[in-house]
Amino acid sequence: MPSQPETYMQNRSGENEAKGAAFAGPAALARSLLAWYDQHGRDLPWRIRDRGQSHGQHQSQLRADPYHVWLSEIMLQQTGVVVVTPYFHKFLSRWPTIAALAAAPLNDVLQAWAGLGYYARARNLHKCARVLDTDFRDGFPEDTATLKTLPGIGDYTAAAISAIAFARPANVVDGNIERVVARLRAVAAPLPGARRELRKLAGEIAPDQRPGDYAQALMDLGATVCTPRNPACGVCPWAGSCQARINGNAAEYPRRVAKKAKPVRRGVAYWIERDSKIFLERRPARGLLGGMLCFPGSEWLEAVGESAGESAGESAGDAGDHLLPGEVRHTFTHFHLILRVSVRRAENHETDRPAGKWVAISELDQAGLPSVMQKVARHALGAMAAAE
Ligand code: SF4
Repeated sequence: MPSQPETYMQNRSGENEAKGAAFAGPAALARSLLAWYDQHGRDLPWRIRDRGQSHGQHQSQLRADPYHVWLSEIMLQQTGVVVVTPYFHKFLSRWPTIAALAAAPLNDVLQAWAGLGYYARARNLHKCARVLDTDFRDGFPEDTATLKTLPGIGDYTAAAISAIAFARPANVVDGNIERVVARLRAVAAPLPGARRELRKLAGEIAPDQRPGDYAQALMDLGATVCTPRNPACGVCPWAGSCQARINGNAAEYPRRVAKKAKPVRRGVAYWIERDSKIFLERRPARGLLGGMLCFPGSEWLEAVGESAGESAGESAGDAGDHLLPGEVRHTFTHFHLILRVSVRRAENHETDRPAGKWVAISELDQAGLPSVMQKVARHALGAMAAAE
């Protein structure tokens, strides 16, 4: 990264800015953030930290395991630390090495992933483990260009692995870091168009020394101080240089192009019961909830107006089927889903399909159902218990 002055005078857009305020330059910003991280960084199970060593000398001799970094970064996409931590431990105790993960059946990995959402991540994780196990036996790739050739690894994850596991300078930028940088520099352009500018601004600060610690420090700042709604500017190491704080409108950044409202889709999930067992089907490998075990059901069709239920597949179905009261709501990235649950007679459904299987009601908890289907199970059991 280019050498930068320790301080510089800046006035990007702030009419309210105190005239002549001295802002820290990139090197000083990196240094203050690292000092803050040494004191306040989070201890997370996939991290190696030695607070005693981190002052003055960087921690190049203390490297996190690349498998742990990769696994945690894939799990953390779209999901928070609290949710991810037990999954991380579960995966490592079951598959302690990349070779063990590569040797696991995909369905076992999907089952262990159940509840984390965005199941394409689990499929890519498994595919990537197989590539690593066959093509990279000499060691995990270290550079971002090679990392980005692997399944499920994009710009952000490649940079994070390279910096954190291998101490290579990299510009690690995810949504949280975009927010911090947008505020620090009061970037007026809205996301997603501002992404390139935010990356460039982040790259101007990223240091060559302690790149992994710096990336994790920025992640921690975004997660614990520069939070989306109420940034805690009073305890922020960058407060003195933050343009949005000085302007008094930090929470207004990053600016975003107004989003279109998500459409609502409706459908029916079938509760097919026989001998205290429930019929489940594995969805096709590609697409939403791909490869996951789910309740069979109707198509999920976009609802147009309040009375669209019948046309959107909400009729109970064939003779003998009946809809349970109430509905299940779930939000995916691109739409809201409202499901009714229909108790369906087994003879009204093809229950001998190869993708289907019968699972004891008492074992539904361990069946590896995705979150939306766990909601369906809870709803059905609750509605039927209430009717008794
Ligand atoms: S001063 Fe406030 S808005 Fe600026 S980076 Fe720190 S927490 Fe975020």
